[in-house]
Amino acid sequence: MAGVASGEQPGAQGRDLDLLLSRIRQGDRGALARAITLVESTLEADQADARHLVEAAMALTPESLRIGITGIPGVGKSTFIEQLGLYLLSKGLKVAVLAVDPSSRISKGSILGDKTRMQELSRAEGAFVRPSPAGESLGGVARKTRECISLCEAAGYPVVLIETVGVGQSETEVHGMTDFFLLLKIAGAGDELQGIKRGILEMADAIVINKADGANLPAAREAQAVFRQALHLFPPKPGGWQPEVLLCSSMEGSGFAAVWELIERYRAEAGAIGAIERKRRQQNIAWLRRTIAEQLSDGFYQHPAVRESYPELERAVAERQMSPFTAARRLLDAYTGMS
Ligand code: GDP
Repeated sequence: MAGVASGEQPGAQGRDLDLLLSRIRQGDRGALARAITLVESTLEADQADARHLVEAAMALTPESLRIGITGIPGVGKSTFIEQLGLYLLSKGLKVAVLAVDPSSRISKGSILGDKTRMQELSRAEGAFVRPSPAGESLGGVARKTRECISLCEAAGYPVVLIETVGVGQSETEVHGMTDFFLLLKIAGAGDELQGIKRGILEMADAIVINKADGANLPAAREAQAVFRQALHLFPPKPGGWQPEVLLCSSMEGSGFAAVWELIERYRAEAGAIGAIERKRRQQNIAWLRRTIAEQLSDGFYQHPAVRESYPELERAVAERQMSPFTAARRLLDAYTGMS
């Protein structure tokens, strides 16, 4: 358990992990944070522990409602999530937030700047807020986000909010691990639909137009109409769900009751006809395939024969002395011991 709990004796990992899990289940947020650090660790020894922990967590967990929230930087995601989180706490619902910090991939500096995000929610009893480094996955979703969801569920959070910055592949990945996918927007000057990928609109179970306050209100209403129109052009979602477009102001804390009501209605309607369960089954299959792909890829690149010949073959491909197909074949043969 290197890098996680201190003071544990080597060789006692199993017991230590059991202890860590029981602390998580008791609602110890420090234990949950340590477990997530373990899951995110790239050390091989930690990864084995992490798998053990996540498997144990999955075996016992009551599943939470998993809500993905996406939007471009500046749209108000952290303000929105903080308000939604505080709203849920006021209704007696504990909430966990997994926020993806894209800084580690986008640039050396942080997109999130120096501001501390979700301060009030982070301090609140009953909330757990965890920014995660973007990791190695394309588009910035932490590779281990799905595992972290299971740990939050083991900790008894009935709602898990997963934030993703609307760049690259990250929305698709988060959509593939959540029950409800919410797209946060702000009104523009009549150009609401420009620059927004059709795929994101298709994924959304709801669009919420934030900053519907003060002088922004008329433009927000206009944007609401435009998006409603656009959504009607798409075929209904599996289970017949018709995505809705709502307004809110995260600054004023208004509109959150309607947002939550919509999510609850989705849970009731989609749950009743088994649509959420079907979605989760598909997501589990995708998780299996992703895990296989990741483990194959890790095993491949760590293989001694591959490590030895890779640099030279990569150089040859870069300089067009060899085709990528030939190089890949040679490396795969080396990996499988055929050369
Ligand atoms: P993020 O980058 O998507 O996480 O966006 P932030 O939550 O950091 O918000 C970006 C800026 O928009 C901040 O200056 C917020 O104070 C402001 N903001 C967020 N929500 C609202 C809102 O509902 N109304 C107004 N007027 N400003 C908001």
